[in-house]
Amino acid sequence: MWILKYIMEKKNKVKTIANFKEFVKEFGDIDGKENLEEIPCIILAGPPGCGKGTQAKIISKGIRWKHISTGDILRDSGDKDIKKMMKSGELLPDDLVGKELISYLKEYSKHHDPKGFIFDGYPRNLAQRDIFEEICRVNNLKLVYVFFLNAPESLLRKRIEDRGKTSGRSDDKSEKAFNKRMEEYNEQTLPMIESMRNGSNFIEISSNRSLEEISSLIFKKLDEI
Ligand code: ADP
Repeated sequence: MWILKYIMEKKNKVKTIANFKEFVKEFGDIDGKENLEEIPCIILAGPPGCGKGTQAKIISKGIRWKHISTGDILRDSGDKDIKKMMKSGELLPDDLVGKELISYLKEYSKHHDPKGFIFDGYPRNLAQRDIFEEICRVNNLKLVYVFFLNAPESLLRKRIEDRGKTSGRSDDKSEKAFNKRMEEYNEQTLPMIESMRNGSNFIEISSNRSLEEISSLIFKKLDEI
């Protein structure tokens, strides 16, 4: 029922969380204990089809950091309202995604002692960036790099079209959904990425490089920490 409430709110254009500090205070303490040691994390950001998910899997396998994909978490929720929104290519409400992410992190941290986290597809707008910073602060996560995988729209469109033939993802199959995803990206995600550009840990990688080239660049950077 609460999901429906959030979706209704979204329809009424209530998009952001009024007090994200309170929000994280309520939900954000991942494992209930104080983490004395910093846990490093990275963000993989970029437009749909830029290869965030593929790179995250390679990096996670290579250095054994936990891959956190909000797209996968939301797809796995099995909720039909979430499915419907994802199918259309819209971004889901920030508080819904925040809650799903935090409860996933909590559940994971109960059973594992993570060496690091790879965030793929989160944060995706300025409000989520604030929530993310607060999650990091509360849980002693240290953002070591933001990798921005950039690519021209024509390449992204082609990749998603090809992926749609095999991925089984409903949002990969329709051109309308792709256009919506690009619109959300340009309006919401790009300003968030630009807000991080001046940070010393921001690295832009052009996505027309080969998969291997991109992952070895990322590995090299991670070796430096
Ligand atoms: P892509 O890399 O192609 O954008 P994802 O699997 O990362 O694919 O995301 C698929 C969909 O899941 C998005 O179009 C959006 O509807 C939803 N989603 C994923 N992450 C977020 C997020 N951080 N905030 C809001 N919606 C999200």
